[in-house]
Amino acid sequence: MNLIDLRSDTVTRPTDAMREAMLRAPVGDDVYGEDPTVNALQERLAGELGFAAALFVPTGTQSNLLALMAHCERGDEYIVGADAHTYRFEGGGAAVLGSIQPQPIPQAADGTLPLDKVEASIKPVDPHFARSRLLALENTWHGRALPFDYLAQAREVATRRGLGLHLDGARLYNAATAYGRPARDVVAGFDSVSVCLSKGLGAPVGSVLLGDTALIERARRWRKVAGGGWRQAGMLAAAAMYALDHHVERLADDHARAARLADGLRAIDGLDVTGCHTNMVFVDVPAPRLKDLATRMANAGVRLSIGYLPSVRLVTHLDIDDEGVDRTIAAFASFAY
Ligand SMILES: *Cc1c(COP(=O)(O)O)cnc(C)c1O
Repeated sequence: MNLIDLRSDTVTRPTDAMREAMLRAPVGDDVYGEDPTVNALQERLAGELGFAAALFVPTGTQSNLLALMAHCERGDEYIVGADAHTYRFEGGGAAVLGSIQPQPIPQAADGTLPLDKVEASIKPVDPHFARSRLLALENTWHGRALPFDYLAQAREVATRRGLGLHLDGARLYNAATAYGRPARDVVAGFDSVSVCLSKGLGAPVGSVLLGDTALIERARRWRKVAGGGWRQAGMLAAAAMYALDHHVERLADDHARAARLADGLRAIDGLDVTGCHTNMVFVDVPAPRLKDLATRMANAGVRLSIGYLPSVRLVTHLDIDDEGVDRTIAAFASFAY
């Protein structure tokens, strides 16, 4: 029985065609800036998304960290969602490694940071306070594409109040798919953007940070300091290129499967489907039944993310097909809640 792994879209394995592309990739030493495939990936994404420069890095966590350290100095502050990945799920890296103070703001249900609260949190210029420097947003957030109009409103506040604007766009292409717009339009107002290739796009490793030339040069320096200066990374960049060529349009299939999964689960007594956004479905299960459910699902060959969020999260991706959706619904339906 093959396993249906709905824990995250990070679990995808490179396809045979992707592995072929990796095998043939021309490579060089990227610390010297000499890996042709890395350079091609960086130039391509910068061009496509409308930025002057880009930097290929091992993880989204490092990409966000380098962005924060490129925007802020010791004693500066970034404003961020209290449930944002950057604040909550990256080990506090900005504070630990960057001496950058976070100013968390509770997200609204749609993932936005209410802009009146953002403005109210900006500190006066006074030695008592950290220097408010940056507003960091996340899109998609828990699968939700932020309201498109909000992006321009956030840009207006950032400009008026002298803040930089960073986007954790780990799932930028899922957001673009949800809006039905080119990814370039989604990132248009941002000073820096981090994009993951290893989530729904299915590359084994890698994120890209985008920004202007000066910001990317600072990030490149911090990448080396953080031990992220890699050498013949072109084989990984080739996987990323392959993903951009072949795995962007198909994200719509993941979204359609998530919607079908949500419909199937809604019909089951005792289950409360609390959300279905892009490639993620959220389900509330009565708390005393969670442990038994986890065991039952494991026995049925279905892996779920239980315990990180208040709800059970199910994520569709490249390795989940229609049969996997059907088997998951059937496994949920065979359990008494
Ligand atoms: C996965 C993720 C990251 C970090 O990516 P890693 O490559 O796992 O370090 C950052 N932000 C969001 C929203 C993510 O989902």
